[in-house]
Amino acid sequence: MVTATATELTPCPNFINGEWTVPDVDAFNPVYNPSTGEQIAQAPMSGPDIVDQAVQAAADAFPDWWQTPPVERIRILFRYKMLLEDAFEELAMSVTREHGKTLQEARGDVRRGIEVVEYACAITELLKGECLENVARGIDCELQRQPVGICAGICPYNFPALVPMWMYPLAIACGNTFILKPSEKVPLTSVRLIQLLEQAGLPKGVLNIVHGGRECVDAILTHPQINAISFVGSSPVAKYIFEKGTQHGKRVQAAGGAKNFVVVMPDAEIPKAVDGMVDSAFGCAGQRCMAGSTAITVGKAADQFLPDMAKAAQSIQVGPTDRTPAGQMGAVISPDHLNRVRNLIEKGKEEGADLLVDGRSVKVQDYPNGFYLGPTIIDKVQPEMTVHKEELFGPVLNVIRADDLHHALEVANACSFGNGCCIYTRSGQVAREFKHHVKAGMIGINVGIPAPLAYFPFSGWDYSFFGDLHIQGREAIYFYTRAKVTTTRWFHHAEGDIWHKD
Ligand code: NAD
Repeated sequence: MVTATATELTPCPNFINGEWTVPDVDAFNPVYNPSTGEQIAQAPMSGPDIVDQAVQAAADAFPDWWQTPPVERIRILFRYKMLLEDAFEELAMSVTREHGKTLQEARGDVRRGIEVVEYACAITELLKGECLENVARGIDCELQRQPVGICAGICPYNFPALVPMWMYPLAIACGNTFILKPSEKVPLTSVRLIQLLEQAGLPKGVLNIVHGGRECVDAILTHPQINAISFVGSSPVAKYIFEKGTQHGKRVQAAGGAKNFVVVMPDAEIPKAVDGMVDSAFGCAGQRCMAGSTAITVGKAADQFLPDMAKAAQSIQVGPTDRTPAGQMGAVISPDHLNRVRNLIEKGKEEGADLLVDGRSVKVQDYPNGFYLGPTIIDKVQPEMTVHKEELFGPVLNVIRADDLHHALEVANACSFGNGCCIYTRSGQVAREFKHHVKAGMIGINVGIPAPLAYFPFSGWDYSFFGDLHIQGREAIYFYTRAKVTTTRWFHHAEGDIWHKD
């Protein structure tokens, strides 16, 4: 974090109680265009007093928003969906500009987010309760879902559109009010997303944005009026959020980092496995919690898979995609992150792995200051190596050689993370064994590491998720609501016989 005066670059405004204002703070975080290395904006580092203002706005808006019929709430979301479609390319450009991923990937980021809004438009169906007559003679039981109250969402940098949209559309559709804390590295797309929601007619205070970092997050975690927190980010922070948030009596869902394994069996369709692996490992420059970061080749699979994979990796063009459509892989988020990943690659070499493809020397013509790293493949990785134990979060594929399916499963299941895992094979029996025994929450068979769509939960396990109810799908509806169960009996009164006229 650097300190800067507000005159250097226009800072991103917070949005509190329907007002866009730059808070009076001393510290700002620089926002870069990773493709060029230029600073393009700065995020104000809001403190507890500003979080409190947002909470008061959300608290004031809650009673009326809760009482607003769901069908009226979703009319706003239907208008929002149309505004998002109209602004689709502009939003994708915004993602590209502040994140560095390619325009095509940025379009996917926005599209997946819009799909959550579409799912939220079905809230009249999703919020319906349950009822059973005669749980005992003359007694009925009914379950209703009511909003939890004030919710907050804390986001990572790697999906500037999708991750915020994982959270607030469903939370507000359920009748909650919301405080969004975007990543301080990519705050601009969130600002635009919420401007469109304001334009769709959302009443003031229902959704508020507060920019900031750790101090802001701590204020959210400890604020007595916040009832539920959705977090997406790295595992150590996810664990911290879960522990501190629950200690303060909040409901918390905290999605963390990952190491995702792709098992390539000797009978696999190797060209298909290579295609899937290229996208899994190098898409978004490897900055995805669902990146396929390790290939486990079984037996002879390595003989064809590795040379083909190396060729494919070397043919990927790295570059900026907001100024030229040529780049097939964009930049990583920051100079610090670039150095971190470069150093980890070196560590892999020092610890005895083979650098099959080394992307560290990549140069992008005309963009000498962009944060670029070429696709890298590290072969003969062993489980005790640092590159295996840490989430690299860059365009780096580790390769582990396994003797058979059992060995591959042993390697994958020994990992503390548990987001995604997939297998390439022609054998239904092998695929079934794998699916049944592998310890991860999102599984792919003959597809690259698959991120579930809006109507399924994003169901990480173990060190990849802290909490119970996941993000997206029905689990999100349960997370953003509380069940109320009413048991009813009506007595017969002597003076009234409902069956017969007097
Ligand atoms: P991060 O954990 O550094 O930051 C996430 C959020 O937490 C940011 O808003 C940041 O301001 C805040 N934060 C950071 N450090 C904090 C601290 N010490 N105390 C309190 N708050 C803190 O994550 P990132 O680098 O922005 O994003 C990349 C990570 O997110 C990767 O690990 C990736 O795997 C993970 N991720 C997970 C999923 C998932 O669904 N499991 C999805 C996307 C990204």
